[in-house]
Amino acid sequence: MSQVIINKANYDNPEIDLVLKPLGGMENFVKKGDKVLLKVNLLSAKEPEKAVTTHPDFIRAVAKAVRVAGGSPLIGDSPAGLFSKRALKKAYKRSGLEELAKEEEIPLNYDTDSRKLDIPEGLKLKKSPFCDFVFDVDKIIALPKLKTHSFQYMTLACKIMYGAVPGLTKAKYHAKFPRNMSFADMMLDILTLIKPQLYLMDGILAMEGQGPGGGDPVELGLVLASTDPVAMDIAVCRTFGIEPVGIPVLKRAKIRNLWPEQIEYPLLQPEDVIYKGFKLPSTAEHLLTGKKAPKKSPIITDKCIGCGDCEEICPKEAVRVNDELAKINYSKCIRCYCCHEVCPENAIKLGTIKAK
Ligand code: SF4
Ligand code: SF4
Repeated sequence: MSQVIINKANYDNPEIDLVLKPLGGMENFVKKGDKVLLKVNLLSAKEPEKAVTTHPDFIRAVAKAVRVAGGSPLIGDSPAGLFSKRALKKAYKRSGLEELAKEEEIPLNYDTDSRKLDIPEGLKLKKSPFCDFVFDVDKIIALPKLKTHSFQYMTLACKIMYGAVPGLTKAKYHAKFPRNMSFADMMLDILTLIKPQLYLMDGILAMEGQGPGGGDPVELGLVLASTDPVAMDIAVCRTFGIEPVGIPVLKRAKIRNLWPEQIEYPLLQPEDVIYKGFKLPSTAEHLLTGKKAPKKSPIITDKCIGCGDCEEICPKEAVRVNDELAKINYSKCIRCYCCHEVCPENAIKLGTIKAK
């Protein structure tokens, strides 16, 4: 039996102690002297109000609880794009984590080294580089942001440890696993190797629409806690009336017998916090309408400033920037939407391109 604790809260008081009570409190996970990685979602350098990254006040509340239990928190993630100290600094600053770290004296990870590891239980991924900072701790608490995802439809707890893969290797895996089911399997493979002790989800200010980088912030006021990422993601789907097997990673988890036999909700039930009208990405409309959505392609709009981030991340070298404008070669494009995910100007929309 898996437990998912759901509560309504806000950033002034995310009530971390309350959601952890049924799980035995933070002291059940953190012992005196433990170095604890708070594995946040730091997709890119975006302000907290854009809902792209785990909110600093949510992280603050978890860090405080870790300290009360006797542990020492460390904040870390590998954002999309190049995994460099410069990129980390920019992301920490813009997302409010630099300020949080200063105020609360919490170290931010700047170690960009990685090591190659075997994944003995991996189905698709048998070996991969992983960031060192994930292994140089005693415990991991994952703090996923509740968001939509144009390629995987939702990015929740099962996807959070994909951030343990360093920088551009993540983009390369899009080329290696271009179908959303094989990509989902690969993410589950990572979870067989790296198992956070606890998941605390920031669904207070969530993202709907064209996530994970360019969707719309939506105030849900939700905080979830669990030790089971699959159960947590199923619970989120239930609050939106989405059939969980429609989400690729949950479908693959079911096939791989990773679904919990039963989920207990000690506090609120998903039905208590049901949210009608949650907007999925246009690539996932079929989950709500039942009609197959046409294949969406990335389209560069006139908001493009020619920064080159899309060119850098594209795993198929399908984007070129000339005269400060990005151009996509659709014959090479695999519709992974990495370019859409990282564009700092939201200059890439997803739509249907007319055949020539
Ligand atoms: S589309 Fe976006 S990421 Fe690509 S060059 Fe233009 S502004 Fe930069
Ligand atoms: S152009 Fe964009 S969607 Fe197409 S392969 Fe490159 S990153 Fe992926």
